[in-house]
Amino acid sequence: MPTEPPPAVASPDAPPPAAASPAAASRAVAPPDAPLLAAPLLAAHEPPPVEILRAHGASDLVLAADHAGRRIPEALGRLGIAEHELTRHIAWDIGIAGVATRLSAALDAALVMQCYSRLVIDCNRDPGVPSSMPERSEATTIPGNLDLAPADRTRRVDALFTPYHDAIRALLDRRAAAGRPSVLVALHSFTPVYLGERRPMHAAVLYNRDARLSLALRDLLAAEAGLVVAENEPYRVSDLTDYTVPVHAERRGLLHVEIEIRQDLIADAAGEAAWAERLARLLPAAVRQAA
Ligand SMILES: [Zn+2]
Repeated sequence: MPTEPPPAVASPDAPPPAAASPAAASRAVAPPDAPLLAAPLLAAHEPPPVEILRAHGASDLVLAADHAGRRIPEALGRLGIAEHELTRHIAWDIGIAGVATRLSAALDAALVMQCYSRLVIDCNRDPGVPSSMPERSEATTIPGNLDLAPADRTRRVDALFTPYHDAIRALLDRRAAAGRPSVLVALHSFTPVYLGERRPMHAAVLYNRDARLSLALRDLLAAEAGLVVAENEPYRVSDLTDYTVPVHAERRGLLHVEIEIRQDLIADAAGEAAWAERLARLLPAAVRQAA
């Protein structure tokens, strides 16, 4: 008989349906230390971590969405949290996959998306920082992330983080080798209310070492009727709280911007389409101004 999974990944409220699958069951009977941890995190039938659209897109813009997905590898159950938590902003950037996909289509721009939840591993963090596999997000404790063994962490890095960033790196390398310019656009969304505090801005541009494209886009967004646009709020780019912009854009000296859109504005298809249309119109103009 399968034994219970180890406490670090157990779901206290209900066993995940995936536990009944042959792959998960074979992992569950293993002793909690060696063979279990050596198994790959994703079963063969699970979707790959990275989705790439228009890899050979004609646009100079390269889009990345670190928090596009909310899947949890079956081997991890639900990380011990309730089902409804997995549709909240703590699990993913609500609406951003729709915006990114439409923007990619409108501009013929390459797009790289992470399909698994930021609660498993945050692909916009260095894996060495505590918030990479958060023990708490907003006010929710993540039982499946408590006291993770180094091998558990390594499995998540290997299965989800590394393929995602390898895909961005390879894409940018290929373009550079072909003599093509690349402008990195990191797409995110933020919750309208965080820990009880309402956020008034509709969108924001974030940057750290190179503000050129961010400020050009900020000015264009702010000129849109009725839009409240923030700069480095509610977050800012840093080496501790970000990875995609510092590693893939700043280190290469690429023009870049990190964009945050408030989630209630892109909560349905009409909102996603409106924001994709807006960014498809403004981003190329901002690039021309910043270059
Ligand atoms: Zn995000």
